[in-house]
Amino acid sequence: MAAQNFFSRISSLLSPLAAIALILALIFIAPGLDRSALQFFTLALMWVALASSWNLIGGYAGYTDFGHAIFVGVGAYVVGILIARESSFNLSSALSFPQALMVAFLIGAVFALVIGFPTLRLKGPYFAIAMLGMLAVSREIARNITSVTQGGVGITFPSPFPQMLEIYYVMLIVASVIFLTSLWIFRSQLGTMLQAIAQDEMAADMRGINTTTVKIGIFMLVGGFTALIGATRAYWLGYANPDLAFPEDFTIQMIMITLLGGIGRPWGPVIGGVIFLGLQSIFWTNGGEAHLIVMAALLIIVALFFPKGILGLFDPENRGLGAFLRRDAQPSEKSTLLLSMTDTLRAWQTPSTSQPLLEGRDVTRDFGGIRAINKIDFQIQPGEIVGLLGPNGSGKTTLFDCISGILKPSNGELFLNGEDITHLNPWRVNRYGLARTFQNIRVFEGLTVYENMMASRKWRGVPLWAWMWSAPPETRQHADEFLVFLGLSPFSHMPANSLSAGQQRLLEIGMTLMSDPLVVLIDEATSGISPAMIEDIKTSILRLNQELGLTFFLIEHNRHFAMDLCHRLYVLNHGTLIAEGTAEEIQNNPAVIEAYFGRETS
Ligand code: ADP
Ligand code: MG
Repeated sequence: MAAQNFFSRISSLLSPLAAIALILALIFIAPGLDRSALQFFTLALMWVALASSWNLIGGYAGYTDFGHAIFVGVGAYVVGILIARESSFNLSSALSFPQALMVAFLIGAVFALVIGFPTLRLKGPYFAIAMLGMLAVSREIARNITSVTQGGVGITFPSPFPQMLEIYYVMLIVASVIFLTSLWIFRSQLGTMLQAIAQDEMAADMRGINTTTVKIGIFMLVGGFTALIGATRAYWLGYANPDLAFPEDFTIQMIMITLLGGIGRPWGPVIGGVIFLGLQSIFWTNGGEAHLIVMAALLIIVALFFPKGILGLFDPENRGLGAFLRRDAQPSEKSTLLLSMTDTLRAWQTPSTSQPLLEGRDVTRDFGGIRAINKIDFQIQPGEIVGLLGPNGSGKTTLFDCISGILKPSNGELFLNGEDITHLNPWRVNRYGLARTFQNIRVFEGLTVYENMMASRKWRGVPLWAWMWSAPPETRQHADEFLVFLGLSPFSHMPANSLSAGQQRLLEIGMTLMSDPLVVLIDEATSGISPAMIEDIKTSILRLNQELGLTFFLIEHNRHFAMDLCHRLYVLNHGTLIAEGTAEEIQNNPAVIEAYFGRETS
């Protein structure tokens, strides 16, 4: 095991070491290059930097940004306005070059905040189009506030770098900072959060990730980075005008480079940039305008035949060398496991107060004119397993959505451990101690089983700076132990979508456990799952309840499963509670027989 640890450490160092070696090589070869080679390399570095920065929002977070060139323009104009002689803000003597770049970074980040706040509420193509619109608006603003920007003519300023080599080194620093940051983020908890958001934002929210903060934060970083590139480019060119500063085709090329190399991976933009610019220079010199056709064909081929890009071609099913090396490194003793879980998670044994752990009063939810649930009162005591039965469409999932913050109740109140959670967003409800599974399984399909667990860790009390690091050892140990408990550890490093439905359901239960919950809501644990798996799930829930005192509220369609497991049951029909009691009481209740069982037996 020690040897395995050693090798997995080494393999996880490969990527940063390769990055540093590449940067060192780029430092040392430069003095030997002629001017045109330096220009080509500077351009290549600029594209790698732009694509790396785009990849953070478009790849990691999954927000395809068509207006990314806005920040190129912001950087260019910040520099132009600050240092141009004819500018009324002429600060060229007061501001050093690095200070001007800093200002560009900060203003880029502020722009991203202002633009991202409304646009990041939109999804998919709506976000892409909104950003494209923002780009057009920004260009027109630059054209029209002539007193500041000199309008369409633009601002000219003397380049402080007469030597191409100096520009090359500045671009190398900028590109290195951006690339190394993206490499760092990918391996940090922030990277896991971003990947979870890209996969399924609502599920990420339900796992306690404050998606708005994460998205806006990363967009601000990206805005700052891109402004930094724009500023450096403006120094290189020596002028800024609306068309040059806000170039539409830039965004297309950033996306093409990222897709070609591998979207959502730190090395994607590097590999894509090198190949793209190599091909472009060949076809540019030989084929004139034909290069456009070649590039378009290339994009189509990439999108159709290898959507994960060139790096995707090297993807083994189990996710690479590191996964192979870590495969056997899990603990395997089931009995000792539960002892250690009881130690670490003793908080679950909630002190016995008379107050219910979870309580709903008068909970009502309308959809348009339809009342899906009507004035529901329920109480769950610590340590209970409570079932919620009812025919299809009776409002069970709607009640769970209201409890977990996915839907807001039209009326009524909800309390968790004495706290009013009625109007809280899902991530806040999660942080107060409620976790759930979904009727239609919502694991993060593209992430590994282990990454799914880490994305669902207890985020409560994790400070922002810690997002930039990997999870602490005790969190990783929890994940390992839960995976052993659920029988999933052999699949730790496989993508979640390679599991069977039953295994994915178990994984979802594991994900709820990771957040250290007070109560777990389970929406139809058994639907679409093989009988053997149903037994596994039943045993897991029972043991978590008996050995750890964990409280469950579960929706069940399979009434034998529910009757075996639950201490107490509620029965819902047409959105109204019609009965409450033990399995026996429920079975003999005439209203229930009429509404629910009657239908099955008749
Ligand atoms: P169950 O989980 O008990 O099968 P649901 O809570 O999913 O039932 O649905 C209860 C009722 O609410 C159904 O009539 C359903 O059509 C309606 N409903 C659920 N979600 C929505 C929605 N988002 N918009 C409109 N109607 C909905
Ligand atoms: Mg349902």
